Amino acid sequence: MPATGTVAGMDAAPFGADSGGMATNVMILGAGFGGLELATLLSERLAADVAVTLVDQEDAFVFGFSKLDVLAGRCTGDEVRIPYARFAKPGVEFRRERVVAIDPAARRVVTDAATYDPDLLVVALGAEYDMAATPGFADGGFEYYTVAGAARLRDELAAFGGGRVLLAVLGIPFKCPPAPYEGILLVHDALAARGIREASALHIVSPQHAPIPVSREASAALERALAERGIEYTKRHRVYGIDPARKMAQYKDHEEPYDLFIGIPVHRVPEVAVRAGLTQDGWVAVDPLTYGTRFPGVYALGDCAESGIPKAGTFAESAARVVAAQIVREVRGRGGPERGGKGLCYIEYGDGEVGRVDVDFLAPGGPTAPFLGPTRAYAAEKAQFGAVRRARWFRS
Ligand SMILES: Cc1cc2nc3c(=O)[nH]c(=O)nc-3n(C[C@H](O)[C@H](O)[C@H](O)COP(=O)(O)OP(=O)(O)OC[C@H]3O[C@@H](n4cnc5c(N)ncnc54)[C@H](O)[C@@H]3O)c2cc1C
Repeated sequence: MPATGTVAGMDAAPFGADSGGMATNVMILGAGFGGLELATLLSERLAADVAVTLVDQEDAFVFGFSKLDVLAGRCTGDEVRIPYARFAKPGVEFRRERVVAIDPAARRVVTDAATYDPDLLVVALGAEYDMAATPGFADGGFEYYTVAGAARLRDELAAFGGGRVLLAVLGIPFKCPPAPYEGILLVHDALAARGIREASALHIVSPQHAPIPVSREASAALERALAERGIEYTKRHRVYGIDPARKMAQYKDHEEPYDLFIGIPVHRVPEVAVRAGLTQDGWVAVDPLTYGTRFPGVYALGDCAESGIPKAGTFAESAARVVAAQIVREVRGRGGPERGGKGLCYIEYGDGEVGRVDVDFLAPGGPTAPFLGPTRAYAAEKAQFGAVRRARWFRS
């Protein structure tokens, strides 16, 4: 079947860049951590044989961890945006379009600008936040999982007069297992810097049984860091809603007062993937070894997919390597598979220190996750982790 990109109201145009009718058309939906790495790998390995179309609704990429930089006041929201205009790779065309429909059986994608029929389709649309899932949260809560939310919380902390700060993980799964703990440690630093830490009580609540369930060592280190700073930590509890008028957080069987409520929002897969029939139990169902969906020629990776591995950029990248190997095999008819499930997680402890967990979820004897640090050296290494990807994807 010829692959065409039909721009609304116009004649069919060749799909992708410089395909010459010979190349395999690959369409990647979502230019986040996973989509950017996959497009880069395909350009490196198959530029002459593929025409890759990479689509995203935004005009700029932001690293998830940059939101912590905004929260801590190290960068502004504008400074952490990396325009997609800087993404230029042989064999890849970036288009700023919004995906409005996906028919995975027909491998057809409709955006707000065109209709596409790629040979291979990769869904890498990430996870969205469902603010309305927690009653009262949109009106009276703060968050730092968006750039705007991080800037708003930074400003609130600068004006806060001291009191009870409650940070709650509002649902599972959520992006980046350490991020709630990083957040409360940064709040501690912000209040200490303003001399109002003593006048405040910090409390973090999570439905999970440990901060980093895969790593006993990393969990113990985080719990130690919380205890050293006098931050209360409640596990296996969930805040279901807040009453902003009374400043009360609602648990299953009791309420708790707060002065400042920070939530890690409930996450959900983008609606377009649900309407496509790609989801099972709320997330895109994939084979954890190949990231293939039940539809031939359709893959899904990163936060939108349920592969049994936590949602983090480092694992989206690992999944991109797996899918790239699959596509190389499909296009060239040779090449071995790649094993996924590996990643480096950095954890901000505040006060300039960072810890590191080297996770391998699919290690032959079961998951391994040794913990290193926290030290200032790992803070420098984390900065390098971002810089390397920035240079690789955006040459900047
Ligand atoms: C505070 C915080 C700290 C974090 N720290 C780390 C860290 O230290 N290390 C780490 O590895 N991870 C970290 N993460 C997690 C990381 O950012 C995500 O897990 C990662 O971005 C997931 O990559 P992805 O490609 O699956 O999705 P994303 O990077 O979210 O990309 C999905 C893309 O799809 C696009 N999209 C969605 N719907 C549509 C549509 N309908 N049409 C067109 N485009 C669409 C979006 O615009 C987006 O660009 C952190 C996250 C947060 C919030």
